[in-house]
Amino acid sequence: MVVLDGKEVSNKVRASLIPRIEKFHEKVGRPPHLTVVIVGDDKASHVYVRNKKIACEKLGMTSSIHALPDTATQNELNTLLRELNNDAKVDGILVQFPLPKHLSSDEVLSVVSPEKDADGLTFKSLGYFFAGKPIVRPCTPEGVMTILKHYNIEVEGKRVVVVGRSNIVGKPMAHMLTEANATVTICHSKTKNLSQYTKEADLVVVAAGKAGLLGKEDFKKDAVVIDVGMHGSGQGGKLCGDVRFEELNGWVAAATPVPGGVGPMTITTLLQNTCLLAEKRARLF
Ligand code: NAP
Repeated sequence: MVVLDGKEVSNKVRASLIPRIEKFHEKVGRPPHLTVVIVGDDKASHVYVRNKKIACEKLGMTSSIHALPDTATQNELNTLLRELNNDAKVDGILVQFPLPKHLSSDEVLSVVSPEKDADGLTFKSLGYFFAGKPIVRPCTPEGVMTILKHYNIEVEGKRVVVVGRSNIVGKPMAHMLTEANATVTICHSKTKNLSQYTKEADLVVVAAGKAGLLGKEDFKKDAVVIDVGMHGSGQGGKLCGDVRFEELNGWVAAATPVPGGVGPMTITTLLQNTCLLAEKRARLF
């Protein structure tokens, strides 16, 4: 079984961004800039935000963090986002979810401009994307496509099952694979006899958010398995995915591990998207 190494792919993509960042800097007089908005003091979210800032800076991009208190109102948040939409020095905006309960993520997804939406998940960005005219593509599924491409895994004409239909992963994943000429079936929590579908597939992308949901018996021999799931409480408290990875060796052709598979590609695609948005606004191509 080939272990699809998301860290290796991620390093390659990040290295390819450096000359683009340098070119942008040279032409525009500053590097591309990602700004991250976080509301409240959820510790894990603050760690994610800090990691994104560090990742930007390692590549020579700049990043700023707008941390609003738990008491921030929807009006204050919307006002900040509109200011950032209009700030010429900001290329990408990312709002860290989840938000405190009194705030609406739907409003955030309506207010952030698609020209600055580094995650590719606002309603307008998704509209362009599903209409086949993407400004940027949603990070996690785009990261999966990059892994497939890196390992020369052809999807055209293949039978693919995507498990999950969220706006963040499942739906855009199914759309990207359809655009790449795969024949795609989407399964979800109301699918009866999930295994019957996954066992027929050449490629299965699992994004159900259920630790250890699928194992060897759910895949056909020599299938490719991409595990998007991420759970902090696997065996012994270790990070694990939706797939029982340890069962797959000797049965499937290739699979992503957790950690070290899809996860590293999500943040890399965020950096790539920020770079792309910066280049588009500066009309560098
Ligand atoms: P989500 O919004 O909870 O969506 C889960 C989807 O899976 C839903 O469509 C749900 O069906 C379906 N589902 C749930 N249980 C199922 C079952 N037993 N059989 C078949 N389908 C089932 O989650 P998400 O945001 O898409 O994320 C999915 C997983 O990916 C999570 O573990 C999340 O932490 C992880 N994730 C990882 C990354 C990364 O960078 N690696 C990025 C994003 C998300 P219904 O629609 O019927 O409810």
